[in-house]
Amino acid sequence: MRETQEPLEVLHRVFGHTGFRGMQEEVVRHAVAGGSGLVLMPTGGGKSLCFQVPALCRPGLGVVVSPLIALMEDQVAALRQQDVPAAALHSDLDPDEARAVRRALNEGSLKLLYVSPERLVNEETLARLDEMRIALFAIDEAHCVSQWGHHFRPEYRGLTVLAERFPGVPRLALTATADPRTVQDIQRQLRLEDSPLFRASFDRPNIFISAQPREQERAQLRAFIRRAGDGTGAGLIYCGSRRKAEQTADWLRADGHDSLVFHAGLDPVQKREAHRRFARGDAVVMAATIAFGMGIDRPDVRWVAHTDLPRSPESWYQEIGRAGRDGLPAQALLLYGAGDIALARHRIGESGAGDDQKRVERQRLDAMVAIAEAATCRRQLLLRCFGEDAPEPCGQCDICLSPPRLFDGTVAAQKLLSAVLRTGRRFGVGHLVDVLHGKTTAKVAQFGHDQLPTFGVGRDLTETAWKGIARQLVAQGALDVAVENHGELVPTDAARPILKGERPVMFREELVTPASRPMTRARAADAAALASPGDPCFAALRDWRRRTALAQGVPAYVIFQDRTLAEIAAGRPDSLAALGTIPGVGATKLERYGQAVLGIIRDCD
Ligand code: ADP
Ligand code: ZN
Repeated sequence: MRETQEPLEVLHRVFGHTGFRGMQEEVVRHAVAGGSGLVLMPTGGGKSLCFQVPALCRPGLGVVVSPLIALMEDQVAALRQQDVPAAALHSDLDPDEARAVRRALNEGSLKLLYVSPERLVNEETLARLDEMRIALFAIDEAHCVSQWGHHFRPEYRGLTVLAERFPGVPRLALTATADPRTVQDIQRQLRLEDSPLFRASFDRPNIFISAQPREQERAQLRAFIRRAGDGTGAGLIYCGSRRKAEQTADWLRADGHDSLVFHAGLDPVQKREAHRRFARGDAVVMAATIAFGMGIDRPDVRWVAHTDLPRSPESWYQEIGRAGRDGLPAQALLLYGAGDIALARHRIGESGAGDDQKRVERQRLDAMVAIAEAATCRRQLLLRCFGEDAPEPCGQCDICLSPPRLFDGTVAAQKLLSAVLRTGRRFGVGHLVDVLHGKTTAKVAQFGHDQLPTFGVGRDLTETAWKGIARQLVAQGALDVAVENHGELVPTDAARPILKGERPVMFREELVTPASRPMTRARAADAAALASPGDPCFAALRDWRRRTALAQGVPAYVIFQDRTLAEIAAGRPDSLAALGTIPGVGATKLERYGQAVLGIIRDCD
């Protein structure tokens, strides 16, 4: 039987990384020593190595439970590139493939087995595992065990059996969902109450975050994509409905983007194809609902945009966390409107959930609205939702870059609220602005609104400013939008003290051109050592990688990640030894691709 191996040595030799990141080392050493635990790390934080390294260090087979076939397949492909004997066992294998996996298991030639939860708890699999030496069980995306999350998978509940049946084998559960209920649920279900909890910081400093009121959605998105895209990495747009995802993919395509669509209404074959094209394509843009989530392993997602307000900071963060897993600069943009806020509130009220659950969901929504309407650093607000206190503003969000000015909007709020009341609570914001501006439109004349005392009292503010005030009153809970009708504004109880002058209101001045950091500056900050995207050597390496990946039928990043190619292009190594010192070039990849890469470099000089 193999001796236990040194984690750092495995990290260098197999994965080609120079060192562990953050909490990884602590988790790995704990698991190698035979300990169980729950690991909370943000998306892109590097969870895979937390179980892959100990599985390779310890004698026996590492068993990884994963909820998604695409995810398993990509991880297995990546491991095989590093010469790690790995396989996946799930319902999608044809009988020949399943037999080959079982044979490899019997022969004891596998080091890592990825398996779906239902396959694992099947008696036949368990009986086979009983006979074998198991290095550890890793339960990836462990929040699937919890009913509180959006991704509850009843089959995950069956995993309780692991603690009873394999008492001496370490169990590592991993997730990016850190809210206390989910955490407790995981600990209880997986019998991890007495094991340590490893909680990494949830900050992802390489993601620049920004939010804007939705005014001209397409124009805003076009500008964002122009700024955030780098011509090679992928982008993701989350939409509030299936229809919007379809429409968005359509106009993106008409704009000349290689666009894809994903939502729960697609059939399994279409879904798999969308996943595959997203993983394999170069500069693809995916328009999707939140159904597109787990199984996105692509490290070079350069930007994530939301066209509608997410329901909680947790879901928003998980979605934008899919950007910049490679550690290079990435950007997130949130577009939202007053209607979104009202609609989300309305939905919670109408849902069949219990009062407790409704209260929790309202709190989450309010926290999300506060981030969208923030007047101070957005990241500080966001991290506070995860129980982290960031002492300093981040300098990596739109608010930090150009803080909005606040003004006392009590009088403006009174004017708007009184226009709402005097017109009979029956009109949307457009008509109300016409009244405030004193415009005699046909509708104004029809209803005699030019006779109201509020007619023309709001000429001092622009239409954009008035719309901003209406939205901020909705966000502050003083106005409601009748979502089931035509978006008419209706005052709530909270409007009364404002009208009476008992409560002052502060507003953010609406920015005319929303701030955002141009990509070039953010990139330059990253590392002068990295080659510029325009470097012909980098382009040649990418082209070689594309061909190599295509020939093997694997995603390009499985061969080498962008970051690694950029460092190779910048360093122009002229020997295998020099190439081997570059992060991301492990022993196996050096042997497999070293000569080819050196050849490409020679050709471009
Ligand atoms: P998660 O599953 O937590 O979302 P991954 O395990 O997919 O994150 O890792 C995210 C990215 O970070 C991957 O591209 C991986 O190669 C890289 N990575 C993780 N750990 C390290 C490390 N110690 N050194 C260098 N790169 C790392
Ligand atoms: Zn900030």
